[in-house]
Amino acid sequence: MEPSDKTHLLLLGPDKPLITEGLAQRFIIHRLDSSGTLASGITSSIRAIALCGGHDPLNAEFMLRFPNLEIIASFGVGYDHIDATWAGEHGIIVTNTPDVLTEEVADTALGLLLCTVRELPQAERYLRAGKWLEKPYPLTCSSLRGRSVGIVGLGRIGSAIARRLEGFGVSLSYHNRNKRDVPYIYQASLLSLAREVDILIVVTPGGPETSSLVNFEILEALGPCGILINIGRGASVDEAALIRALKTKTILAAGLDVFNDEPHVPKELLEMGNVVLLPHVGSASMETRDAMARLLVDNLLSWKNGKGALTPVKETPAS
Ligand code: NAP
Repeated sequence: MEPSDKTHLLLLGPDKPLITEGLAQRFIIHRLDSSGTLASGITSSIRAIALCGGHDPLNAEFMLRFPNLEIIASFGVGYDHIDATWAGEHGIIVTNTPDVLTEEVADTALGLLLCTVRELPQAERYLRAGKWLEKPYPLTCSSLRGRSVGIVGLGRIGSAIARRLEGFGVSLSYHNRNKRDVPYIYQASLLSLAREVDILIVVTPGGPETSSLVNFEILEALGPCGILINIGRGASVDEAALIRALKTKTILAAGLDVFNDEPHVPKELLEMGNVVLLPHVGSASMETRDAMARLLVDNLLSWKNGKGALTPVKETPAS
């Protein structure tokens, strides 16, 4: 294929061979230089951006640098770091990678839940420290037996978590802005959900609408035996309120895969024994990350072939 048939594309974020190899046939790939700029004359040629990971903001100011930008293909299902509303208003397509990561993230959520409820990482550290030789690990105050679980954000991933939890015999409730046709109890407000359940799992998207959705009042409603799991976005939980709630035993424990200022985790959380902390690994298996990379590439190839994007986000057009 002649270079003239190729479209100029800006690749942002970490190098992923599946993405660069998948795009090389049909795109001329550019990267920003160390000062964050492109050679002059190139910016107006850029029609596509491949955002290969990381959560650096991609805002209107950045998009305006590329007057002929038509599509941004992002790696990951959450796109709160992209101003998709502005993009949509300016005819720029944004795509994400839904579905292909759903089951992996749900598996991680269940692992995090079990680790938090039964203190499995703490028990493992106890064994490694040789303390088992002195006495058995203390019994955990929490258990899944007879407990009720609430999910805030019963979308693709939330539903996959709920399906897994059905097998654990817990009672299941949820809160979304919209009631769904599912066999779980709907709570019209997050506060009423937190009052009703023992364990609250947060799987909402990031962005202004969910910022600090879980505040101190919600944690108080969850109560002293309550456990919070966050696998959605760090900003959906008021981290200072959570730290206060854990310190004052307003809630019992928390399991977190996401944080406000990743990869920085507050020292207070690092020092607490009643939290389980994961470094945002919800979808982080090679298999799933490869599937996400392929979907990013397929979105760009489908758009390039005039067939429209495969998984455009709801704020933007498909073609
Ligand atoms: P989804 O299918 O769009 O589900 C999101 C759910 O959240 C929807 O059911 C939505 O229902 C609900 N929701 C949105 N805003 C809400 C609000 N203000 N209050 C209450 N509920 C609200 O998305 P998904 O594929 O399940 O992904 C969910 C999120 O998980 C992603 O956006 C991402 O941030 C996060 N995630 C994390 C990891 C990780 O590694 N930890 C990996 C993948 C994804 P309504 O519209 O009816 O409110």
